[in-house]
Amino acid sequence: MPEKCVRVRYAPSPTGYPHVGNIRTALFNWLFARHTGGSFIVRIEDTDTARTVPGAEQVILQSLQWLGLDWDEGPAKGGAYGPYRQSERLEYYRKAAHRLVEQGDAYYCYCASERLEEMRSAQIASKQPPGYDRRCRGLDEQERSGFSGECPNPVIRFKAPLKGSTTFYDELRGEVTFENRSIDDFIILKADGFPTYHLANVVDDHHMHISHVMRAEEWISSAPKHLLLYRALGYQAPRFAHLPMILGPDRSKLSKRHGAVSVTQYRDEGYLPQAMVNFLALLGWSLDDKTDIIDLETLVDSFSLERIGKTAAVFNREKLDWMNGVYIRSLSLDDLARQAMPFLDEHLPVSVERPLDEDYVKAVMPLVHERAKTLKEIPQLVDFFFMPEIDYETELLIGKKMDRQMSLNALEITLERLEDLESFTRDSLEGCLRPLAEELELKAGQLFGIIRVAVTGQTVAPPLFETMVVLGKTKCLKRIRQAAARLSGYTC
Ligand code: GLU
Repeated sequence: MPEKCVRVRYAPSPTGYPHVGNIRTALFNWLFARHTGGSFIVRIEDTDTARTVPGAEQVILQSLQWLGLDWDEGPAKGGAYGPYRQSERLEYYRKAAHRLVEQGDAYYCYCASERLEEMRSAQIASKQPPGYDRRCRGLDEQERSGFSGECPNPVIRFKAPLKGSTTFYDELRGEVTFENRSIDDFIILKADGFPTYHLANVVDDHHMHISHVMRAEEWISSAPKHLLLYRALGYQAPRFAHLPMILGPDRSKLSKRHGAVSVTQYRDEGYLPQAMVNFLALLGWSLDDKTDIIDLETLVDSFSLERIGKTAAVFNREKLDWMNGVYIRSLSLDDLARQAMPFLDEHLPVSVERPLDEDYVKAVMPLVHERAKTLKEIPQLVDFFFMPEIDYETELLIGKKMDRQMSLNALEITLERLEDLESFTRDSLEGCLRPLAEELELKAGQLFGIIRVAVTGQTVAPPLFETMVVLGKTKCLKRIRQAAARLSGYTC
């Protein structure tokens, strides 16, 4: 395929927040544009006014920005073929629709919605495919003027051919043929003067010089309608590629239940945009069938339509979590601290003093770098570092195979030894506490377990000595003292 002058577009309808499927379409178009040195255009298809959700356009654009999918032409950016919001381009569609009527390729339809409703119910009842019965297709002048008195704002329908078939070439599937008799006389201009998706999409793709239409497979049945419109309008059709469906792990249609929530929700859950991009790229495309971690540069360098699969892609949330962990581990500690900061700020308990100390946050990061799968998990993993007081079940202070007195004794001796410790480093702590366990005839795990609960309030925490170093001697001693006091007053 010649790869000159590639112009591709992402054409979302602002009828909701974009989910992974929508954004995967955006990403593939963006990658194709960047790979070929072409242009990536964003066009807002907001002609279905009843379904437009206020604020959705903004969230769509924010999602693209968060993922780094910059556009060359589109809202807020402009470009030579704007405006890039269909509600601002009504004149183009009106002109095209009227031209089709004049040419005899489209006609006014005066049918009232009640008539259409009745027709539909009757078709469903007799198990016929629902469709318009074409009553207004053959009206003569007189009939038309009679009807137009009753219905001053008729819709315009396209005159679909009654015979033959329409074939188009899909870049992924090869030739795809639809029988024309399965194509309804679909509406192109509605009574309110707004176009339908089909007309607006074709007119814009033509005027915006789109070279390739890459969209989800669910639109494949619209392609023959679009082809017919391209032909009737005398436009050259772009190339088409209908991207494979995305299924949940149970192979049913991807839904919220599979974790396919809006993309901004993933951002708020602490996923990194670079992990998300990598993950989405593999939903239907592959580098070599085995490589999972692929950085952006490689994605751009190697993206091709040839390696887009034909079969459905499976959305696997665990894989995303794993991938996000890999990307978190690839961040420098400074970067991790910077990115974790807003999550810490938002999710640490209110008892933690704000603003957080940046240096302290940085010191804590090595202890979660290896463990966190999302940024949002971090506050919960490290809250004990920040909280002025920690809380836990006193019973946890009783070591394995030990009783209250033994545990209390261990804590008190630990306290004495740590008080005497001059330097408070990983090595000095280890050099002090390991022999102490032996002296007390305890396994290291037994003693360390008690100390871990005393200083972190948790039974599972980052490596103990490193944790104690970051907490600092004063805080550790205070917490061990409090733990001993809890145990001495504890009756079980
Ligand atoms: N507005 C359609 C959507 O929301 C675009 C389909 C297409 O790309 O042609 O998905």
